[in-house]
Amino acid sequence: MQDVPLLISRILTHGSTIHGSSQVTTWTGEGEPQRRTYAEIGARAAQLAHALREDLGVTGDERVATLAWNNAEHVEAYFAIPSMGAVLHTLNLRLPAEQLAWIVNHAADRVVIANGSLLPLLAPLLPHLKTVEHVVVTGPGDRSLLAGVSAQVHEYEDLIAGKPTVYDWPELDERQAAAMCYTSGTTGDPKGVVYSHRSIYLHSMQVNMTQSMGLTDHDTTLVVVPQFHVNAWGLPHATFMTGVSMLMPDRFLQPAPLAEMIESEKPTHAAAVPTIWQGLLAELTAKPRDVSALTQVTIGGAACPPSLMEAFDRLGMRVCHAWGMTETSPLGTIARPPASAVGTDAEWGYRLTQGRFPAGVEARLTGPGGERLPWDGESAGELEVRGPWIAGAYYNGHGAEPLRPADKFSEDGWLKTGDVGTISPDGFLTLTDRAKDVIKSGGEWISSVDLENALMAHPAVAEAAVVAVPDDKWGERPLATVVLKEGATADFVSLRAFLAEEGGVAKWQLPERWTIIEAVPKTSVGKFDKKVLRKQYAAGDLD
Ligand code: ADP
Repeated sequence: MQDVPLLISRILTHGSTIHGSSQVTTWTGEGEPQRRTYAEIGARAAQLAHALREDLGVTGDERVATLAWNNAEHVEAYFAIPSMGAVLHTLNLRLPAEQLAWIVNHAADRVVIANGSLLPLLAPLLPHLKTVEHVVVTGPGDRSLLAGVSAQVHEYEDLIAGKPTVYDWPELDERQAAAMCYTSGTTGDPKGVVYSHRSIYLHSMQVNMTQSMGLTDHDTTLVVVPQFHVNAWGLPHATFMTGVSMLMPDRFLQPAPLAEMIESEKPTHAAAVPTIWQGLLAELTAKPRDVSALTQVTIGGAACPPSLMEAFDRLGMRVCHAWGMTETSPLGTIARPPASAVGTDAEWGYRLTQGRFPAGVEARLTGPGGERLPWDGESAGELEVRGPWIAGAYYNGHGAEPLRPADKFSEDGWLKTGDVGTISPDGFLTLTDRAKDVIKSGGEWISSVDLENALMAHPAVAEAAVVAVPDDKWGERPLATVVLKEGATADFVSLRAFLAEEGGVAKWQLPERWTIIEAVPKTSVGKFDKKVLRKQYAAGDLD
């Protein structure tokens, strides 16, 4: 067979020609959204590559960073940078400033392409970014914030204007780095994960398979999951393969504009973490809208509470649960029930699992003593995975040997996910917890996720997060932190009774420590930040 390298430039060329009339629509907050066809994106990506090479001197595998929301220019950068041979480095704009600076310096980014609306974040950071020589600004925003910075400042539109709309994309090695993304660094320094052209290409094909997201050029996907978070779950690449149109929310990620864009632009599919959907649900309950076009929702990044899945089903939006991580590109599993279960009582149980492993992801479970555990749906152990889109190491600076910490990679090269769960004989993963979130009470494990899901099914509860707190007798006990719905009331005695009676929680697992909070703290990508809660309640104080 021909040895044709699997390159991002091939995905771009395919999408911008064969699916040239598909569209990227970017929400602008007022007036008409911005609309750009895939053909136009292809032409502008070529112009951007010319500008980066000829005007800014980007060569080889230099890193070009983006500090951007989901929008058309970010899609152009997604394709231009890797296609010319450079490396796209997406920066998580929600990270604390010192972490962002650390990451940019570690990756040695030479150029930052930034949205104008994010200049208030970028400007004070720039003096700390040692390697950044050029800043390219897109869209509205106050340029005067950049007055006096030492990096050269360019207008994106001026830079690409008049450049040729085709580029002779180089024939690269498919194993070469195409993009990189740092994990949010919940412990220690952030870790850089580098995606190759080959891994992105194969992952995109997997995303497109019918048993995965299975979208076609009849669909429009609302990409809420940020482009700075694991390549927006691979959607921008996958859509260019199939001609699915994209609706990009830019910075309008609040429930009200999301509901408005769903009603007016009629996406058929959407992808985001559960917290976004909880917010949208509350919005749609308070202010119903016609969201009937949206029939498929992919939820992942954190466990989807069954109550949320039920509520979305009632709205006609069928939820498909998926699991993954920065290190897995991210698609690791996706919950499409097997044919034998569809229409039976077993179907719901399958939908609640994290999902089934696709052909490209091999999995195994490891017990506390390092022993392999069976796929019997009962034995719980740490999940380890391997495959062509699973990280084999972390980036350790340009030219340096990659990092393979023993707590993250097994001796034989599998990724240790830090997630604990079971696998059924037919390959469905059920996560019981993250290894670090499990509550170890008197030698037994209590799943914080099970307690949270049971609590969030209570009609008065908007959100609930359960963390371990130290306990003299048991080592650790669960503390339930609860956010009540607006105007709702509930006392701990009744919540506890609800867990036991409706949630089926065993008596010894019921929390005896409770507190009502205003909101569950969230991580930079919108997941429950239990680290903050644990710290806050480390001494067991409930004030
Ligand atoms: P971070 O560690 O900063 O959250 P990632 O975005 O890579 O970074 O998160 C990956 C982790 O998110 C997984 O290891 C897992 O614990 C959690 N996760 C992802 N999807 C799910 C899911 N469907 N159910 C439960 N947990 C999930």
